[in-house]
Amino acid sequence: MKLLYEGKAKKVWEIDAEKVLIEFKDDVTAFDGLKKDQYRGKGLLNKKISDYFFKILEKNAIKTHYIRSVDDRNFEAFRTTVMPLETVVRNYAAGSFCKRYGIEKGKKLSKPLVEFMIKSDELHDPLICEDTILLLDLATKEELEYMKRTALKVNEILSSELEKAKLILVDFKLEFGKNSNGEILLIDEITPDTCRFWDSETFESLDKDVYREDKADLLSTYEEVARRLEL
Ligand code: 5GP
Repeated sequence: MKLLYEGKAKKVWEIDAEKVLIEFKDDVTAFDGLKKDQYRGKGLLNKKISDYFFKILEKNAIKTHYIRSVDDRNFEAFRTTVMPLETVVRNYAAGSFCKRYGIEKGKKLSKPLVEFMIKSDELHDPLICEDTILLLDLATKEELEYMKRTALKVNEILSSELEKAKLILVDFKLEFGKNSNGEILLIDEITPDTCRFWDSETFESLDKDVYREDKADLLSTYEEVARRLEL
């Protein structure tokens, strides 16, 4: 199979004009690739967790690229052209939100916030406002509204699912792509690499922050997430 793309945590292989294979690697990076490691088995865990979330979203009528699981490390997905934006939803103050606005970590936001960032390692994924997105033709008004509406729906669905596992969905990043019919699909992965999960009682991190901040072992943290989701 032809390798279409290799990212920090995944590879995308061409199946045909309509479909790709998404392979989860064992690599982990943080701070735009400055910190880099490998954890044997991380790819399998993230693939399993992603399968689980995509299936739940599909059941709830969210259009995603997910087609089917192929094996431990790979799933089949619809091929899309990736939109040049990252969509972040926040329920609690953490990460770049705290840094940007000087807000204390852990504060619950009065309502979920959707932010857009330009997808660019070189520029360090800068925050972009909706008018600038339109001005730069990065998406149309309809596309933006669709992404925002979908991101908030995803937030509701995943938050209530995670609550059952005694996890708070603090924030997460989504990516969208356009298929050959111009339809927008939710793509990429949904994993502890792309979301912040906190234990609902102790508020301890059960996501990539343990690696970013050297707080705990990444593999056993991701195993704990999978265990709580009964995977
Ligand atoms: P922040 O903007 O606070 O760094 O991130 C907000 C949320 O989106 C976090 O859950 C974080 O893991 C996720 N996120 C934001 N940008 C990226 C990115 O470039 N890669 C990954 N894997 N996750 C991201």
